[in-house]
Amino acid sequence: MILQYLFKINVFIFLFSSGCSYDGTPDYIKPEIQTYRLRSRGDERRKPIKKVKKNQIRVICSSPVILNRKIIWNKLREKLSLEYMFLHHGMKSTKAIIAPRMIVVHHTGSNTFKSAWWSMEKPQIKGRPYISKSSSLNVSAHFLVDTDGKIYRLLSDKKFARHVIGLNYMAIGIENVGGTVRTPLTENQLNSNVKLIEYLLCKYPEIKFLIGHHEYYRFRKSSYWKEKNKRYYTFKSDPGIKFMKRVRKKLKRKIKSKP
Ligand SMILES: [Zn+2]
Repeated sequence: MILQYLFKINVFIFLFSSGCSYDGTPDYIKPEIQTYRLRSRGDERRKPIKKVKKNQIRVICSSPVILNRKIIWNKLREKLSLEYMFLHHGMKSTKAIIAPRMIVVHHTGSNTFKSAWWSMEKPQIKGRPYISKSSSLNVSAHFLVDTDGKIYRLLSDKKFARHVIGLNYMAIGIENVGGTVRTPLTENQLNSNVKLIEYLLCKYPEIKFLIGHHEYYRFRKSSYWKEKNKRYYTFKSDPGIKFMKRVRKKLKRKIKSKP
């Protein structure tokens, strides 16, 4: 309780001293609440707990500050997501949600937060004929990290997002603004990615894999790969070997990048 109380005070002080705003617009700031996870021998449950029993440890997943800048999630996006899940992943579902088993790191290839955010905001894709031919569902990700390291939430963790062929149904996507010659990925982005990944790994102990988008081909012949159209595949180079190497080096624990 004391820890929880201290955390809340710290978050409060931090938020009101960091001036989190974007383009002069006041942000709706909602830091992630700490998640409690029970860890006991042979039994892992993730839910808020009131009492800690003998031989159980209380695990606190402390979150970095995450700013809400949600993209549109409406009936159309839900419908297009369900269609995508059926047509591409072969999954018949009534809710467009994922079971997180993997984190995929990307870069946007665009120079500004604004352009990256706008490209994902609408439910339907515009342009990009090869991608839109397969589905009119727009691409998206769950998080977008700006060049200054600020982390923005675009979608709730378990909402379906189209960001990695064959694996969307189980993957949380982290996009990073930049990755171009003009706007290379920054140290702040690296540190924020590490914090965010650590937090997600703690929050979802069922996440087994961490990959850069350029590594997704490794899963193509595994049972995890769910893509009905065998010819639907694009070459990806983001966020690059160097960035992923540095992310992995900074993470407190090793996490698999291959099936
Ligand atoms: Zn990507």
